[in-house]
Amino acid sequence: MVIDAHSGAMGGSKSQEFMVRTPAGEDQIVSCEKCSYAANMEKASSKLSPVEALKPEGDGQPAEVHTPGQKTIEDVAQFLGVSPKQMIKALAMMTTEEDAKTGKTRARAVVLLMRGDHQMNEAKLSTAVAGKEVRPMQEDEIRELFQAPAGYLGPLGIEWAKDEKDPGKAILLVDKALEGRVNLIGGANKEGYHVRNLTPGKTFHPTAYVDLRSVTAGEDCPNCGASLRIDTAVEIGHIFKLGYKYSESMGARVLDHNGKEVAPIMGSYGIGIERILTAAVEQSNDENGFWLPPSIAPFEVVVVATNSKDEAIGRASEDIARQLEAAGFDVLLDDRDERPGVKFKDADLVGIPFRVNVGKKVTEDTVEVVRRSTLQREDVKISAITEYFQGLRPATR
Ligand SMILES: [Zn+2]
Repeated sequence: MVIDAHSGAMGGSKSQEFMVRTPAGEDQIVSCEKCSYAANMEKASSKLSPVEALKPEGDGQPAEVHTPGQKTIEDVAQFLGVSPKQMIKALAMMTTEEDAKTGKTRARAVVLLMRGDHQMNEAKLSTAVAGKEVRPMQEDEIRELFQAPAGYLGPLGIEWAKDEKDPGKAILLVDKALEGRVNLIGGANKEGYHVRNLTPGKTFHPTAYVDLRSVTAGEDCPNCGASLRIDTAVEIGHIFKLGYKYSESMGARVLDHNGKEVAPIMGSYGIGIERILTAAVEQSNDENGFWLPPSIAPFEVVVVATNSKDEAIGRASEDIARQLEAAGFDVLLDDRDERPGVKFKDADLVGIPFRVNVGKKVTEDTVEVVRRSTLQREDVKISAITEYFQGLRPATR
């Protein structure tokens, strides 16, 4: 099965990846059990169930709470009797950016806020910072920005950049799962303290809300609400819609039907021939070998003369092979002087989807057809063998 997945973009706004689920894959793919939703991990989203908001404490303004020795989200949540879903996790990072005027590079702080139980997705972060290099902040950098040690970091008391261009200031990227949430609990930027009543957009102002969260299996499909699954997969094809970006920048022009010069719209189509073959083998194999879909198998049918010394069998085998070939099938004739068992084993091993065993029953106008995928056997009249395979074609091609 090939999954058509939304994926990251290259120089254009749209791209489609064609993926095959296989444990041997190098990518992770999120897909819906029910509808056709599928996306690469770096693009996937899910519908979150609503979280019960905490009641505001006191006057609703941020209020410090003493949390001595409680550093992890789980510890603090348990200590305060709340859910990690009602907490904010802060991740302190640094990027490097170039000064447009001087061309010199300089470091810039980027702080990420996520819901307490969520995991950050590196690929999404990379998209959020436009591909700039990102690394975790070092101890001294944390102290400089937050005036507090790791474990108690939060958004209060820092002047965040209003937008990406706001020079010099640290950037605060808040995950979309926190947008619209109220009365959250996060670090107070003070050792041994957290703070209640944190409301994004009110008690602190993010530079931007972005999607940073990794989807986890079992969450709800964004389209239909059914359960999402995550599998490893291999990418076998990729289409990019490049639009006019490169044709404009390279000055490429073609003539339209009126003879007028226009910039052509561009697309990029990639297909992984070897990956398709290995993915097919990964999906369809047993202890005796593998089988390929007839549409990509080098041969669709192998005709096996079970006893090539028998003249009638030899003649019938050649006839069948010739007939099928004339009807447009790719046929391999195995008339080697070998035992039938050896021939059957070899045929199973190399993945030919159908095997025709030509044996003693030729005198009754009958051969046996074996389907490699299911090992299902069927007696077929030699006089009707072409029609038999033609009848299978719509299903197998
Ligand atoms: Zn769905």
